[in-house]
Amino acid sequence: MKEKVSPFLKRLSENPAIRQQYYISGFESADVIYNDPLMEEKHEVVKGLVHKYPNRALIKVSYLCAAHCRFCTRIRQIGNPEGTLSDIDLENILLYLQQNPQIDDVILSGGDPFYTPDITYKLLEKLQFISTVKTIRIGTRMPFQSPDSFHTKNISSLLNLINDIGKRIPLYILVHINHPDELNKETESVIKLLKEQKVTVLSQTVFLRNINDNFETLYLLFKKLYHLGVIPYYLYHCDHVKGLERFTGDINKEKEIAIRLRAELSGIACPLFVEDLEDGYGKMPVY
Ligand code: SF4
Repeated sequence: MKEKVSPFLKRLSENPAIRQQYYISGFESADVIYNDPLMEEKHEVVKGLVHKYPNRALIKVSYLCAAHCRFCTRIRQIGNPEGTLSDIDLENILLYLQQNPQIDDVILSGGDPFYTPDITYKLLEKLQFISTVKTIRIGTRMPFQSPDSFHTKNISSLLNLINDIGKRIPLYILVHINHPDELNKETESVIKLLKEQKVTVLSQTVFLRNINDNFETLYLLFKKLYHLGVIPYYLYHCDHVKGLERFTGDINKEKEIAIRLRAELSGIACPLFVEDLEDGYGKMPVY
């Protein structure tokens, strides 16, 4: 995966937490063949749609993001333009959803659905009218990678549509954030903008070795998110991707941090510590 750092993140590049997440380090080898730890390709039933659990479908709108996280579970795909869904791909996806009414929960991911707002718009415009789809979730990291983009015309139109759909269907926006230093005036203003829409805003965080795997950092992050009105949802053990082992921490150390977070944060401010199991069980709480 090529290095890609947005102009906004470049301004923060002196910060070690930002640098380690986005810049290629000497530990990265160009020869690694990255695996698919969550077996998404095996369950990709139509281009862009992963149907792994009976009632849920994951739609990858594209493989494109505003910046490339070096620890990304989908490092094998990110940046590849071949993942971008065409109009025909969108039609095929919608047809599959209509033919599989047991799918009531649809997750838009990628890549970042806000990085290709026109495609996400087209998809949502039709998805909202599939009566068997009862909830929609959208995962994004763009508020922390390119907050200025949220004031462009295309993202504003997408937000208007999201706001409109959210009046009828529960719509969740899941923001991916790993470190309190990713919160600042600009990124917090995007969180506020998202919260003005008719949506619930939740957060997802990945334990990253030597970046955020200590109690103080995560305590501050979840407390700040809680104060911004964001519900911390999941705290992940880093997925096992070949070549990215330097980011995966010691699960016993992470358990101790998670237990302390549970003891010291308000219940609603404390995310569930989970591991995404490779055998198809999905996200299981780490006890
Ligand atoms: S924004 Fe998300 S999908 Fe894109 S590179 Fe980062 S972790 Fe991967």
